[in-house]
Amino acid sequence: MSQVLIAEDNEGIASFVAKGLKAAGYAPVVVGTAREAWEHAQTGEFDLLILDIGLPDADGFSVLRRLRESRNAMPVIVLTARSSVTDTVAALEGGADDYMPKPFRFEELLARVRLRLRAEPGATSGDATVLTAGELSLDLRTRRARVGEREVDLSAREFALAEMFLRNPGNVLSREQLLSRVWGMDFDPGSNVVDVYVRYLRKKLGADTIETVRGMGYRLSA
Ligand code: CA
Repeated sequence: MSQVLIAEDNEGIASFVAKGLKAAGYAPVVVGTAREAWEHAQTGEFDLLILDIGLPDADGFSVLRRLRESRNAMPVIVLTARSSVTDTVAALEGGADDYMPKPFRFEELLARVRLRLRAEPGATSGDATVLTAGELSLDLRTRRARVGEREVDLSAREFALAEMFLRNPGNVLSREQLLSRVWGMDFDPGSNVVDVYVRYLRKKLGADTIETVRGMGYRLSA
C-alpha cells in the first residue's frame, strides 16, 4: 500500500484529502508544518508528498528545495492557489512533479496521485489501469469508456462517477459518498446532481448498468 504524506495546515482540506486517499486504498499521514513535512519526507517511508505552499512556519517551496538538494526524488504534488501563476511556475522549477490549483475536486487530485505513483520506478503494478464490469470497461490512462465494442464518450464528471461504481462493485454508494468523492468540496448536500448524472450514465452505458437501492443510494448492477 502506498504511503502518502500530506503537508497541509488547513484541517478541512487535509482531512478531506486524507479521507479520500484512504478510501482509494492509500495510507495517508497528515502534517501541518514545513518542519514536520521535511522530517517525515526524509524518513524514506513515503511514496509521495502532497505539499501545500502556504504552511505556517515556512513555505512549501523551502521543503521542496531541501528535498531536491538532498537528492530525494520522491514525487511531489504541490497545492497552489489557482490565481498564482508565479507559484505554479516556481513549484515546477523547484522540482515538483505536478501541481494542483486550489480549490480542487478530489478526483482531480486522485488522478494526479495515481499517475505519479504509477510513473515511479519500482512501483507495484497492482493498480489496474483498466476497470471492467461485465460489458463495461474504463481505461483510466486514456480516460476512454467502452460498452462491449462500442466506445462511449463520457464527460470528465461522468467518467469519475462511473469509476467510483467500478471501484466498488456490489457496494451501495450513498448520494453523500458520491457527492464528496466525485464532486469534491464544493457540493450542496441538498443537490440532486448525483441523480442527474446517474441518469446520464444510464443513458450512455445502458439503463440497467446502475440500480437504485431505495432509500440508500446506487449500486453497479451485477
Ligand atoms: Ca495553507
